Amino acid sequence: MTLTHTIAGLVALILARAQLQREHAEARANELALREANRRMEEFLSIICHELKTPLTVMRGSLQLADRKVKRLVSSEALFPDEMRRFAPILALLERARNQVSIQDRLVNDLLDASRIQAQTLHLLKTPCNLVSIVQEAVEDQRQIKPARTIHLEMLARKEVSVYADADRLVQVVTNYLTNALKYSSADRPVEVRLHVEGQIAQVSVRDEGPGLPAAEHERIWECFYRVPGIEVQSGSGGGLGVGLSVCRTIIERHGGQVGVDSRPGEGSTFWFRLPLVTHGSIDEEVVV
Ligand code: ADP
Repeated sequence: MTLTHTIAGLVALILARAQLQREHAEARANELALREANRRMEEFLSIICHELKTPLTVMRGSLQLADRKVKRLVSSEALFPDEMRRFAPILALLERARNQVSIQDRLVNDLLDASRIQAQTLHLLKTPCNLVSIVQEAVEDQRQIKPARTIHLEMLARKEVSVYADADRLVQVVTNYLTNALKYSSADRPVEVRLHVEGQIAQVSVRDEGPGLPAAEHERIWECFYRVPGIEVQSGSGGGLGVGLSVCRTIIERHGGQVGVDSRPGEGSTFWFRLPLVTHGSIDEEVVV
């Protein structure tokens, strides 16, 4: 009886082991297949990146050059006011084309980032950097692009808020919050950017006087490809793909931070993110998310 039990136990163990080995082989095959799919995805992305972004860069450069040449012509030649007026529509057309190129560029970047996050190939290059300069850079850029808009910036007395981060990616997050605040609120309303520190946490927030969002949307807006029904672009042109905020969330969470929104319909929105301040002993590292 004992021998039979022992043999039965042994057979069960052998079968279980064979099953585990099969599962292990399957898992390995799946892992290899996943790696291969990711490699192809990355290859595909780099082709798209090249095929779509290169022409956009050339177009942007050509439009800038044309704009500069027309402006130089207008200022250097002794033109009659009537002649000068004839150049105004040309400048307006160039400006419109440049705006459209920027929109296209942003959409391509959003898609590339979203795909890289899916394929887990979005690289973050983290170093100790100053959040004050990051916020200032993003605000200055938008002030230059949209000189007619009022963007208030409320900073701290201190000139340095050290975080351990990929600075370019943080500029991207602040820029995304800011461009949303500008496009979903009307052109005559101001936008407020604020940086403050509480304990070991830095917080950046962007407040607008746009339509505001009901509580039910506060979570969903961070999902990839989600756009709130009924929320229209109020100033500037070009909507989006509903990708920007989900990319922002991934970037901030991979920095050990959090994102959120405080908003109520009719009362505007405040989008924010929090990041831990830099701790001693942080070293430069490359992280893939
Ligand atoms: P999109 O490119 O569509 O703006 P985002 O991911 O940046 O994509 O935003 C997702 C959605 O969240 C937007 O489509 C919009 O419906 C809503 N949203 C984002 N920012 C604001 C804001 N400041 N005010 C109101 N709604 C906003």
